[in-house]
Amino acid sequence: MAVKKTIAVLTSGGDSPGMNAAVRAVVRSALDKGIEVYAIYEGYQGMVDGGEGIRKMNWDSVSGIMHRGGTAIGTARCMPFRSREGRMQAAKNLLKLGIDSLVVIGGDGSLTGANIFRQEWPDLLAELVSSGAISKKLAAAHPHLTVVGLVGSIDNDMVGTDMTIGADTALNRITDAVDALSSTAASHQRTFVVEVMGRNCGYLALMSALATGADWAFIPEHPPESDNWEDDMCEMIHAGRKAGRRETIIIVAEGARDRSSKPISSSYVKEVLEQKLGQDTRVTILGHVQRGGAPSAFDRYMSTVLGHAAVDNILAADAEKEAQLIGMRENRIHPIPLMDSVEKTHAVAKVIDEQEYGKAVEMRGGSFKEALKTFRTLSQALPRPPKKGQKRLRLGVLNASAPAPGMNTATRAAVRLGLDKGNTVLGIENGFQGLIDGEIKEMGWMDVEDWAWMGGSELGTNRKMPSGGELYAIAKNVERYRLDGLLIIGGWAGYEAARTLYNSRDQYPAFNIPTICLPATINNNLPGSEFSIGADTALNSIVAVVDKIKQSAVASHRTFVVEVMGRYCGYLALMSGMATGAERVYLHEEGVKLKDLQKDVNNLINDFSQGKRLGLMIRNEYANAIYTTPFMCALFEEEGGDLFSVRQSILGHLQQGGNPTPFDRIQATRLAARCIEFLIENTGQEEAQAAFIGLEGGRVQLHPLEDFSRMVDAKRGRPKEQWWMQLRPIAKVLAQSGPRKQND
Ligand code: ADP
Repeated sequence: MAVKKTIAVLTSGGDSPGMNAAVRAVVRSALDKGIEVYAIYEGYQGMVDGGEGIRKMNWDSVSGIMHRGGTAIGTARCMPFRSREGRMQAAKNLLKLGIDSLVVIGGDGSLTGANIFRQEWPDLLAELVSSGAISKKLAAAHPHLTVVGLVGSIDNDMVGTDMTIGADTALNRITDAVDALSSTAASHQRTFVVEVMGRNCGYLALMSALATGADWAFIPEHPPESDNWEDDMCEMIHAGRKAGRRETIIIVAEGARDRSSKPISSSYVKEVLEQKLGQDTRVTILGHVQRGGAPSAFDRYMSTVLGHAAVDNILAADAEKEAQLIGMRENRIHPIPLMDSVEKTHAVAKVIDEQEYGKAVEMRGGSFKEALKTFRTLSQALPRPPKKGQKRLRLGVLNASAPAPGMNTATRAAVRLGLDKGNTVLGIENGFQGLIDGEIKEMGWMDVEDWAWMGGSELGTNRKMPSGGELYAIAKNVERYRLDGLLIIGGWAGYEAARTLYNSRDQYPAFNIPTICLPATINNNLPGSEFSIGADTALNSIVAVVDKIKQSAVASHRTFVVEVMGRYCGYLALMSGMATGAERVYLHEEGVKLKDLQKDVNNLINDFSQGKRLGLMIRNEYANAIYTTPFMCALFEEEGGDLFSVRQSILGHLQQGGNPTPFDRIQATRLAARCIEFLIENTGQEEAQAAFIGLEGGRVQLHPLEDFSRMVDAKRGRPKEQWWMQLRPIAKVLAQSGPRKQND
């Protein structure tokens, strides 16, 4: 039996999208465990003020907030909390309500404040007792303050967590804005200098530059290398224009500087471009737009998982020992000592101030460094000339399966990185059909200029599975076009086709070339990768539509059954359910039984008769072949009687469309870069390697193609192991309409 605790949650410092989902998760996870929970309004100010500043929460207090940006419980900067007297007042107010555990959602300032408060707690209590403000008994009942921190910051500037709450949304906002600016810039052949947030951290600037195919980025950790950077930049931009670029986009982090720490402002960059190149240049400072708006699917899901983990952490036996920070590392929850993380974060800022830039980039971690390198190559005006005596390889790239947003981004990266390494890249049109028909063309640097942000598949894609005589035609074309390697960017059908070629090597020696598959499908149903390219975009599209559907029914007593794609993989259904607060998610992995439906009907009837106004069920398209979406709607409608009506919404192909999200673009680029390296490394071997690539625990991993059948449930077309299945209990706890009794 856990120690009895009373928890309070607050948001402090700068607001960030996703804070609401975290608050909701903390409140509901606590209530589910039978723990009293309070929200502190307006950051530490509410704690110092007491009274209405600290309010008891029930299940419904946090309904309908997850999709909203900002923080529903308010945030503030609070001067009094910086003083001991202020914190004394705060301790008194907490103790009055028996609160001895805090979940603080904020930046490094807020978390530092929380840790100071925690350290002082015993002394503050002793003083309160001696002044007669509280009784000895009350103080003795709460000898420690337990503190758990979650990082709310759009900058993604905290060491110890791969992502902070709000960073993904901010990146989405920036990417949308830069995409929009690019199109108008191209029309007028203009240059835009875009300033983004990030005082000490270039994450938003670098990742948005990578995701939008910008021409240049200024970030604090990596100032331009030469003292003459103005000339270098102008030369590069001039060369780009000469090569055919119609617009120029330059991203400047607000904390950008040169090697001697002199700030590089967006207005200075504009001045340089106008004076040296005579270009029509505009400055756009994105400002608070980056902070605002509905949180992305990722921010909702991650904040939910973190909020849930924060409550678990408070209840852990050794919670009082040290303040903890709950972050995400390699796609898993990662608790670390809070002050370790704060100190390391400050250390990066110090290293930047001391102009040790190489060290600063190192401290940001491997994927930051890799992104910087890749960005610098992709943004070149033209490929670097091949090395002397280097064999020019001929690498084929094709898209296969249904379109997935991000296919173009991956293709662009593969083409440019392949060319930059001195090779010829051949684009194969229309998937494997194009390889059969010989629709193969040499790709130039500028052919893929705008592909970073474009949805769909410019090369063309389909589900063609080659067989019989078609294999002969493919072998002929591989020989005719002298392909030295093949990159297949696609989903299940693409992987299957790659396997067919691999398994026919004895019959067709032409197939004995390095071959690699890059996961690109919205279904996220491929082995060896926790995320496939396109799934994040589809998830965000689903979430945006479901938000609207929910709004449409605000005044009517209605239940929606929303059907999402995924084939036999429930990823989109579960994750969108978590991100939209659906009460029920139907997955093929779990099966749908009549007794489940009976229970769901009972829950709906119960909840609607107690005042519920909106029901939301999300169903994977193949959840059950008999209990279809129309069947379930009819069942709920009939049983709901006058209490509620039911509508179905089958989302369909909108899920495959749209421009890729920054996450999909960044990962597509990362994976494509590794694929090209793989093809180059593996040429010239007697037995050519064939593999599939993916992201596992946040890292790029390769698996031999031979492992495919071992790793999948072939009948269902999905991996045997699906990491996200472990999130189901959290989804279940948070989705219900209130804490239910065990046998309910
Ligand atoms: P962020 O949390 O986003 O970094 P701030 O640094 O402005 O934002 O901190 C938010 C609030 O946290 C401050 O207004 C103050 O109330 C509290 N705080 C920050 N630093 C400290 C500190 N060293 N001691 C006590 N409270 C602090």
